Amino acid sequence: MSGIKKQLAENQRNQIQNVAVLGATGSIGHSTLDVLSHLSDRFRIALLSCHQRLDRFQEQCDRFKPRRAIVTGPRNAEVDAWLQKTDGCSETVREVGTTRLIEAIESDEIDIVVAAIVGCAGLESSLAAALAGKRLGLANKESLVVAGEMLINAVRSGGAELLPIDSEHSAIFQSIQSGQGKSEVQRIILTASGGPLRKWPVGDLENATVEDALAHPTWNMGRKITVDSATMMNKALEVIEAKWLFDLTPEQITVVIHPQSTIHSMVEFCDGSVIAQLSPPDMRLPIQYALTYPDRFPSPAYKIDWGTPHQMEWYPVDPERYPALELGFEVAKRGGTTGAVLNGANEAAVELFLNRKIRLTEIAKICRSVLNHHDYSPSPALDELMRLDRWSREEVFRWINIPC
Ligand code: NAD
Ligand code: MG
Repeated sequence: MSGIKKQLAENQRNQIQNVAVLGATGSIGHSTLDVLSHLSDRFRIALLSCHQRLDRFQEQCDRFKPRRAIVTGPRNAEVDAWLQKTDGCSETVREVGTTRLIEAIESDEIDIVVAAIVGCAGLESSLAAALAGKRLGLANKESLVVAGEMLINAVRSGGAELLPIDSEHSAIFQSIQSGQGKSEVQRIILTASGGPLRKWPVGDLENATVEDALAHPTWNMGRKITVDSATMMNKALEVIEAKWLFDLTPEQITVVIHPQSTIHSMVEFCDGSVIAQLSPPDMRLPIQYALTYPDRFPSPAYKIDWGTPHQMEWYPVDPERYPALELGFEVAKRGGTTGAVLNGANEAAVELFLNRKIRLTEIAKICRSVLNHHDYSPSPALDELMRLDRWSREEVFRWINIPC
């Protein structure tokens, strides 16, 4: 970095940064607000958005007093009542709609966007933040799964900074920082907890209930990602995410089961040396690093207690138990429209499982079938990706004869 550039970066770091938290009412949104309240001398909570759960959103607005609060869900009586409210946080401008959210992200009011919306619904705002040259702290992995090439190009053309929040990708990012250079990276090793059903006999998995799938042993997360962890679709999506973030080939990505979730991922260098990032499973650490990078500050996240014994194991992944994982490697290889189709099919199938319409084990089968039957294109435009997102959801609903 040149002297002037370094100075400018330094000046920027010393100014208070305005942060937009998209999906504030979710699990990552909640952890982000906790981090921001510990670093209030460096960051201002400028914008909060949510889709539903207005009672929780109102509490957040009252407590954090953002400049803007935007609801993106359908306009109904509850939203109208919320818009009329003046008590609590009268200094907050209340608005409704995705268009307003995008305009606010693009404005000078925002320096950093934390993308914590769940699903493909987060893509438009991720792209807007990238094109507007913001720092984009990306929890919404689905943005990269659906439109990885487009988002990476948007980051480049907009002059944005893309910082991973997903714990595995933050671990890789941190391990590469302390390593040499990208050309010396042999491979990355993504760790997976194995989810709550890791020890179930494979033949019993089809009987897993929603409650069984949601009982994650190490992480406390939103419902969609928790089901994805039980099927290992989450790791499939993370393989695709890693390919785009670190410009890797699928052959450079290995997945291992590490039930303790202490090693968040590792980088193996060409000389065989492996650098790992360790900490207790607590998303506040990767969230904070995405906000403060390249600096580090004391964090509210839990620390490892070195005074108590701790075991760390890892195992290879059994493909019979976790058939979803190979879908991620296939999409990472083929690119094009495959990510949008896998993601759309998975989102719809997870919703059906959560509504007790299909079995857990049907999710990967449905995704495989929809992926096999789609009209592949190697370099789709955004509207084609969005069309296939809708198509794949419709296909899933057709699978069980439910009108969309
Ligand atoms: P969550 O379900 O707890 O929260 C989702 C948030 O998105 C809520 O604020 C909700 O109002 C909003 N939202 C839902 N549908 C929306 C729509 N159509 N348009 C706009 N906003 C919408 O989810 P989460 O667990 O916090 O996960 C958020 C993202 O972070 C996901 O992409 C997930 O894969 C990723 N992630 C989560 C964790 C975790 O620990 N929870 C870890 C790594 C990555
Ligand atoms: Mg993860």
